[in-house]
Amino acid sequence: MNKKQETVKLRGVVFNIVHGSFVDGYGIRTTVFLKGCPLRCRWCCNPEGQKYEPELKYSENLCNGCMKCIPVCPEGALKAAETETGKKVVVDRALCTNCLQCVDACPQGALEQFGTYYTVDELFDIVRRDLRYYKSSGGGVTIGGGEATVQWEFAQAFLRKCKENFIHTAVDTCGFTVSEQAFNVLAEADLLLYDIKGMDNEGHIKNTGQSNELILSNLKRLDALGIPIIIRLPLIPGETDSDENIEETAQFLSTLRNLDRVDLMNYHEFGRAKYAQIGLDYTLALTPLTDERLSEIIGIFDKYAIKTQIGG
Ligand code: SF4
Ligand code: SF4
Repeated sequence: MNKKQETVKLRGVVFNIVHGSFVDGYGIRTTVFLKGCPLRCRWCCNPEGQKYEPELKYSENLCNGCMKCIPVCPEGALKAAETETGKKVVVDRALCTNCLQCVDACPQGALEQFGTYYTVDELFDIVRRDLRYYKSSGGGVTIGGGEATVQWEFAQAFLRKCKENFIHTAVDTCGFTVSEQAFNVLAEADLLLYDIKGMDNEGHIKNTGQSNELILSNLKRLDALGIPIIIRLPLIPGETDSDENIEETAQFLSTLRNLDRVDLMNYHEFGRAKYAQIGLDYTLALTPLTDERLSEIIGIFDKYAIKTQIGG
């Protein structure tokens, strides 16, 4: 099989496509979210992007208790239960294999899936529809996740397809690459949106499940390649918002030659509802930083002549 035939057969798992985004790089963008991530950030707002495979999404509020789904499940993972809002089905996640056979059985749309397979051409046909917006705004396509480089082969083929068609490309990454091939995806992007989730390694491991050493060294390597970089800095109260962490981050970033700006991502809980939909618990209960504290943080970056922006 030649390269072109391989690309035709290659499929990626996509869990969301956002059109008309202003927050994922320059101009108006279409952002494609690929499934799978090596990190488990405690504040993750896209928990449905963590697992590699498509998975069952259950919205209990949509269930009317018809129980049409129960006989369809080969694992016996769906059961009837009385809840505060009436009779509903419950999913036993310990038994569920994410076979997704129940999805079509539900007339209410309470059972859906996070994650759909696309070929490169199928995905490209979707993003090319927004071409006129990219052209008029200096925008393009952003690949995010999850961590886009986990599906490195698909991400690279899709990125190349966009570039061949003169579409500006950005990759939103946690910087934790699982292989050199995964790193090469980042190296081919026109713009990187790069997350820094803490300079203290112990804290980083506690909050994400992984060390920050590879992430920081990859950032240096990518900077040396001359790719423009926007840093995304999640500001998690009590975890990443201390003067010490901000100062250390600013010092580190001041050594980069291709840093455009730092986006300050204040704590939020927009992803909370999705945890329940995939059978996970959201464990944090924090209050976002005040405007005063954000101003102080901006002041620290100002000392290092680093441009900041609130939000992405
Ligand atoms: S088929 Fe849908 S609406 Fe009916 S019980 Fe199952 S999840 Fe609820
Ligand atoms: S995804 Fe498959 S195993 Fe899970 S509840 Fe639905 S039918 Fe059962």
